[in-house]
Amino acid sequence: KNSFQFYASEMNASVEEKLVLLEGMRSALDACPGQACQFQLLYQPKVDLRTGRLFGVEALIRWNHPEHGLISPLRFIGLAEESGLIVPLGEWVLRTACAQGQAWRDAGLPEVAISVNVSARQFEEKRLVERIDGALRDSGLPPRLLEVEVTESSLMRDLARAVDKMREIEAMGVALSIDDFGTGYSSLSALKSFPISRLKIDKSFVADLAHSRDDQAIAMAVISLGHKLDLRVIAEGVETEEQRDFLRANDCDEMQGYLYSRPVPPERIAELLAEQGT
Ligand code: C2E
Ligand code: CA
Ligand code: CA
Ligand code: CA
Repeated sequence: KNSFQFYASEMNASVEEKLVLLEGMRSALDACPGQACQFQLLYQPKVDLRTGRLFGVEALIRWNHPEHGLISPLRFIGLAEESGLIVPLGEWVLRTACAQGQAWRDAGLPEVAISVNVSARQFEEKRLVERIDGALRDSGLPPRLLEVEVTESSLMRDLARAVDKMREIEAMGVALSIDDFGTGYSSLSALKSFPISRLKIDKSFVADLAHSRDDQAIAMAVISLGHKLDLRVIAEGVETEEQRDFLRANDCDEMQGYLYSRPVPPERIAELLAEQGT
């Protein structure tokens, strides 16, 4: 509901407002990496529904604006995508997330997989694979600890090409997951040809899970489809015990959401990993 309002207001934003925002993003990105960088990544834990173990984190970008405070990605990722700025911004995200993952390893913490969101334009860009490879090499993070989240809709724009690119990413040893599953239309036959390891049930289906029979049916269908295709299934936006209990009872593998933790700074992830032990 929030994102709809955002898109509605983004469409209403004047060209001038967009230019100001875009210019702001450009100059903010110019200072990255570095002390004056206004972008920051928070990390949201992903936990195993059976064991309760924190096994992964999702990197989520924030813009720490000197005047406007913390700006949500819902307010600027669309424009970054539209303008192409998402490519260098996304590269900064990849590099920062990989470096962070390696820093946790260097600190001797238990291993944790890091997932990074890649938007449609970033996914289609021809040097994506090189950029991922560069971020891994420069950080020293093993590829098996990186996962790329792509939405169904970015894959469906050019299916044959998307499958080729996914295969290249898979060949590097990096995992792929489908984000916002169920919100786009992807043909089930396409899904079969994707070299992915995970489906993520969008939070719009999780919000009313305790009460809506429709959402329950959708969640159960995604879980069983995922399992039949040998994929793991994660639910995002889990806020209540009822939602978690339903997902667990219906054999969902993993969850992510405020119930366990909001997106948090890397120091907090280090604490959670240390508490958990090996
Ligand atoms: P997403 O990939 O679907 O990420 C899930 C969003 O749900 C995140 O919003 C997260 O903070 C929020 N969330 C997590 N748990 C809960 C919960 O229990 N309840 C509710 N109501 N919300 C929850 P966020 O961080 O504002 O990000 C919004 C979207 O912006 C993301 O949606 C993703 O599409 C995009 N995004 C964020 N970071 C990046 C990035 O680094 N690169 C790209 N390309 N896109 C990004
Ligand atoms: Ca995501
Ligand atoms: Ca989502
Ligand atoms: Ca998404």
